[in-house]
Amino acid sequence: MTSVRMPGELRRQIFEAARAAHPAECCGLLVGAREGQQFRIAALHPARNLSADARRFEIDPRDQVAAQRHARDQGTAVVGCYHSHPDGQALPSMADRAGAGEDNFLWLIAGGDALNAFVYSRGVFTGADWVMSSA
Ligand SMILES: [Zn+2]
Repeated sequence: MTSVRMPGELRRQIFEAARAAHPAECCGLLVGAREGQQFRIAALHPARNLSADARRFEIDPRDQVAAQRHARDQGTAVVGCYHSHPDGQALPSMADRAGAGEDNFLWLIAGGDALNAFVYSRGVFTGADWVMSSA
């Protein structure tokens, strides 16, 4: 079973970014560690959304490179990404399915009051369970 641990503060930051970006999508990268099916998120790395279409997102490659450098410096890795759905649906969209590429990559999608976690692998998004942590 896939599980995700993330401090509550980071969850609040994602919802804040979603509100700030509305009606477009916010996006960013998740820095942390993956051990087997367990993801631990230690930090967010907000990214510019290059997409001109409000119904999708495209992470600025410069932010991706910066996130990877930051993660490496900390002895961690970029293990996933997050973005928001202004229409309130916290589920992978057709655009997400078309844009996903990296296997075993964690996707957090904020929509309405929900923040859902999915792992992308071999063309399929599979739901993951939250393990809340305060630190
Ligand atoms: Zn999406």
